[in-house]
Amino acid sequence: MKKYLGLILLINASAFAAKEPLIKVRIAKSLEQVHVSGRDLRRYLWPKKSLKKYAGPKSIQFNCKSKKRIKRRSPIRLASISSLTGLLNWEKERYKGKLHIQTSERFNGCDVINEVSIEDYLATLLPKEMNSKWPIEALKAQAVAARSYAFYKIQTNQVSKVKGFMTHYDLESSEKHQVSGSYFDATRKTILATKQTRGEVLTLNNEKLSPIFFHSKCGGRTLTPDQVWQNKVPGYRSVPCPFCHKHGRKNWKHAFPKSALNQHLERALKVYKKDYLSFKQSSVKFTEDSKLSSRLRFYVNGKYKAVKKSRLRSTMGRTSLPSNNYQIYDQGDKVVVSGAGYGHGVGLCQFGAKELALQGFNYQQILAHYFPELTLKKIY
Ligand SMILES: [Zn+2]
Repeated sequence: MKKYLGLILLINASAFAAKEPLIKVRIAKSLEQVHVSGRDLRRYLWPKKSLKKYAGPKSIQFNCKSKKRIKRRSPIRLASISSLTGLLNWEKERYKGKLHIQTSERFNGCDVINEVSIEDYLATLLPKEMNSKWPIEALKAQAVAARSYAFYKIQTNQVSKVKGFMTHYDLESSEKHQVSGSYFDATRKTILATKQTRGEVLTLNNEKLSPIFFHSKCGGRTLTPDQVWQNKVPGYRSVPCPFCHKHGRKNWKHAFPKSALNQHLERALKVYKKDYLSFKQSSVKFTEDSKLSSRLRFYVNGKYKAVKKSRLRSTMGRTSLPSNNYQIYDQGDKVVVSGAGYGHGVGLCQFGAKELALQGFNYQQILAHYFPELTLKKIY
């Protein structure tokens, strides 16, 4: 999964209410029509502040195409729908809690937000972000990591702060944040993994919340957030992972014509505006690289430059560079990239967690390995 950091705020864990929070998840955006059905529905219209109750089965349709384009910074919540007796149906999926319909951020349709208890949310997330058939202790480690990430987003109101307007949701169900499912995605095992870690999050010194990241396979060593993104996040350390190599995608190797790679390097360097220079007719020579280095170092017409490997990965795409754990070999007119792992490499290594669980380690031990500077805290 891909993560963007944006703003890093540390907040005090002891300030939390000892109550399970609700989370607002954006599950769809910019739809022309939204169709919600269910039994004994309650429909609240926000602009009018009117509540309507329907007995028995009912289907409600919103036409979002006709919504006038209004010049506003923040989306407007249009309606909230809940069911007194059951689940809500939307797009062949079933949801607990409420569905909110709001104007999309670009005012080109409607977004759908599911407001649900965080524990129900996590039970539907585990099969999507991990694999519901994996050992229970690996699923529990994943539940704590995903709960910590979600809780951080809720408590800091980070999405609204980064966007600069009130979004009316805490995070979205996508690879950008974390992918969650609907009611029937939860399995007996994912519900158990959630229940057995109920209310537990990772904290710094038992009091501060820090954003918690996870990825598929580190390939031998995890990375810290500042090696991959821009921000330094307290509580992270790069740790060896001799566990994940047995599982998942094998080590990878790709060769690129140097001219193609140079174009990507030029784009990657554009981000650092002061560093910008044209690579046309330039000779690029890499210095000796190692997998342990998070930066690529090279000379363009004799001028020294460095760029983060993660930056090159985002310009080349995840198919060309499946992870940030790679090494480049300069071979005249071509460049060979040899790498291990899959994903950004920060925080919990999921295949490593699977292997540790298979070896008999519990979720506390798994989390202590990948987050040696953080402690588990039960906040409700
Ligand atoms: Zn690993």
